[in-house]
Amino acid sequence: MKTIGILTSGGDSQGMNAATRAVTRKALDEGFRVMGIKKGYNGLINGEIEELFASSVSGKLSRGGTFLQTARCLEFKEEAGILKAVETCKEFGIEGIVVIGGDGSFRGARDLCLHGIKCVALPGTIDNDIVCSDYTIGFDTALNIVVEMVDRLRDTCESHDRCSVVQIMGKNAGWVTLESSISTGATAMVVPEVEFDFERDIVQRIRKSQALGKNHFIILVSEGVFFDVPSNKNYKYVKEHGIDSAAAFAAKVQQMTGVEAREAILGHVQRGGSPTARDRIIATEMGNYAVGLLKNGISNRVVVMKDNKITDYDILEALQMKKPFDRERFNMANAINI
Ligand code: ADP
Repeated sequence: MKTIGILTSGGDSQGMNAATRAVTRKALDEGFRVMGIKKGYNGLINGEIEELFASSVSGKLSRGGTFLQTARCLEFKEEAGILKAVETCKEFGIEGIVVIGGDGSFRGARDLCLHGIKCVALPGTIDNDIVCSDYTIGFDTALNIVVEMVDRLRDTCESHDRCSVVQIMGKNAGWVTLESSISTGATAMVVPEVEFDFERDIVQRIRKSQALGKNHFIILVSEGVFFDVPSNKNYKYVKEHGIDSAAAFAAKVQQMTGVEAREAILGHVQRGGSPTARDRIIATEMGNYAVGLLKNGISNRVVVMKDNKITDYDILEALQMKKPFDRERFNMANAINI
């Protein structure tokens, strides 16, 4: 193999640039030519590709976003799109590709493998919802942003004896909310994976907290709680109880407890900004590992973090794995955060 490509796909996350940099520099060091594919699989279909040199990734380690840009590409889900992508690979001499993204992007990588393009995938998303890996690039940065924002909200809640209902990203999963809850001492959290009851898990927790002398409260709610997807155990409940948005949730808190409540939707601020040291390090290690696989002629693999070690799995096997929600940590947070 002489030439490898690299692309970022799906939602962006902090640390994607760090991974791109590591792949580029390590691949060049191994004597490969490196091609940067723009806007995910779109670039592969349209031929939006430029050669990357060591200097192309200078100054990128500390930058959020992805300089290769990313996109969702519906055309690539069709056989015709994949065939176009394979043609482009031939045109540019690309024999292997490192794909950084989520589950959807991994499926695309597998499809390319089936057509003879050797792919290795890296888990990149703030949501930490990739079942095969304990960790995904971007999670730590997003978590730290949430913690900073919630700390700020807590200051003003304290000044006004208010409750803040904070909507947290995470797609269909509650990992960002869980770890933010542990890190901020939120009064309550609601995640898609665990059924909740408004009276027991919100009102009574606020009452308990009030009995200890507290007058300000933080409630973290995963955005996924409001999504109509089978994995969300609370969708029917929030619909039936008229609490199917952060604003409606906050209004209900105020109505049921008498505490003034406001919603705060953190949104895409969680996806931007400079990656933390942890994300830079893991992105670098995973990028380095991915090139090692390709160099040894190994492909159709996802690079993962398992028990604090970087390893790799077959893409299809990886997609079929399960990652049960950590109820123990959920219960721990609820016991300690009053
Ligand atoms: P993520 O990678 O973050 O899970 P998506 O699910 O949006 O994000 O997938 C990103 C891109 O990967 C899609 O826009 C599409 O180009 C490609 N992709 C997703 N699912 C498939 C699939 N089943 N087969 C081929 N390509 C896919």
